Amino acid sequence: MTHLPSPAPRPVHKFGGASLTDGPAVRRVGAILAERVADCPVAVVSAVEGITSTLDRVAHAAAEGRDELGPVRVRHRSLLAQLELDPEMLNRHFTELATILSAIRSRRQLAAHERDHVLSFGERVSARIVAAHLTSRGLRAVPIDAYDLGLQSDSNHGRAKVLAQSAERVRSALARFDGIPVITGFLAADAHGRLTTLGRNGSDLSATLIGEAIGAREVCFWKEVGGVMTADPKLVPSARTLRRLSYEEAGELTRHGAGVLHAESVQPLARSGVPGRVLCVRAPSDPGTLVSSESAGDAAVGIACRRNVMLVRLAPASDELRARALASLARLGVEALHVEHDEELRIVFASSEELARELLPFGARFAVERDLATVAAVGCGDEEVLAALHSVGADVRAHWCDGPLPTRVCLLPAHQLALGARALHAVTFETVSPPQAPR
Ligand code: ASP
Ligand code: MG
Repeated sequence: MTHLPSPAPRPVHKFGGASLTDGPAVRRVGAILAERVADCPVAVVSAVEGITSTLDRVAHAAAEGRDELGPVRVRHRSLLAQLELDPEMLNRHFTELATILSAIRSRRQLAAHERDHVLSFGERVSARIVAAHLTSRGLRAVPIDAYDLGLQSDSNHGRAKVLAQSAERVRSALARFDGIPVITGFLAADAHGRLTTLGRNGSDLSATLIGEAIGAREVCFWKEVGGVMTADPKLVPSARTLRRLSYEEAGELTRHGAGVLHAESVQPLARSGVPGRVLCVRAPSDPGTLVSSESAGDAAVGIACRRNVMLVRLAPASDELRARALASLARLGVEALHVEHDEELRIVFASSEELARELLPFGARFAVERDLATVAAVGCGDEEVLAALHSVGADVRAHWCDGPLPTRVCLLPAHQLALGARALHAVTFETVSPPQAPR
């Protein structure tokens, strides 16, 4: 009996909304996939840039009785025209969406599962557009809704978790496709078949879960910028691209707010040993950043920044109060970034007005500070980080050291984020001393 060689592992290519924003952008994506067609690529796509946020507004407007779907339709129609695709090809989807919105309008109410259903259209139509464009280039491509592939989640709408048993279904379903599957990111369905979403920017996570399920050769995240950088280049112009990162290093950078990848998306790669690669759509032959089991080699990994942070202070703070406050946090699904407790309880968390409201009845003295940000020197827990911030006159409101890599996280007023990020970048990655505060 002869044994056929088992097929080589396929790569997964994930494209974000910015890479699908208009006709030329979709054509760049088409060219990238066409050049790699011999590797049997699997594509995962986000919604067209800005569409998820717009659909969210459209859903809320419907609950207030308004119909604001028009611009979403126009945006996609114009994309179809730019790509010379059939202008009617999305009619079925837009009719379905209009029906759901009209039901929401007449009830003046938006349930969490309805919001997810409305949001789902962003990825469902972008997958159709990309697949149709690939077909128009003469490639064999099929749009696939992730839930039809077997991606099943819990029923936690808005931030659903994919269930482990999905992997086997995804693997066997994908084995049946031999063209390029163009799969919706961000989406799954619960056990009752209701559509769910995995949390904002969740398409990265969809791509790594699919990569894990099929034992992908690698998962490529195509971005507008090239690779993972030592800091956000918009804040720190001297930031440079990191050539390699370990799973742990990449995970820590994203956990502390580096927006380049979805924070949880590294875990499936780490579990399965599938490498990740962050690449630039505008320079497809650049090597970008490789995320694998091998470390960058340097202690300092990068400077990660997080905007929209709040600090809540409660005093006097008993142990009981602390427990109640933390229980509120857990109930709302808000993860504390840091908790300090002496005669006062201080909780740092990603902004949530809901939580601030919930904590209001607590404690005799209660204070909320908004407009804060954190800057973290990932891989560097030294006190010199603090000295660098003080030397530029930054108002460090709190700081703490966080594992598993030693990481110093500092809480600053939001308007000092760039100042702080530059000072930390200078002290960790540049030989020059940080800029001095103006006198
Ligand atoms: N379209 C979704 C969002 O904007 C998911 C993604 O882009 O990854 O959050
Ligand atoms: Mg996105």
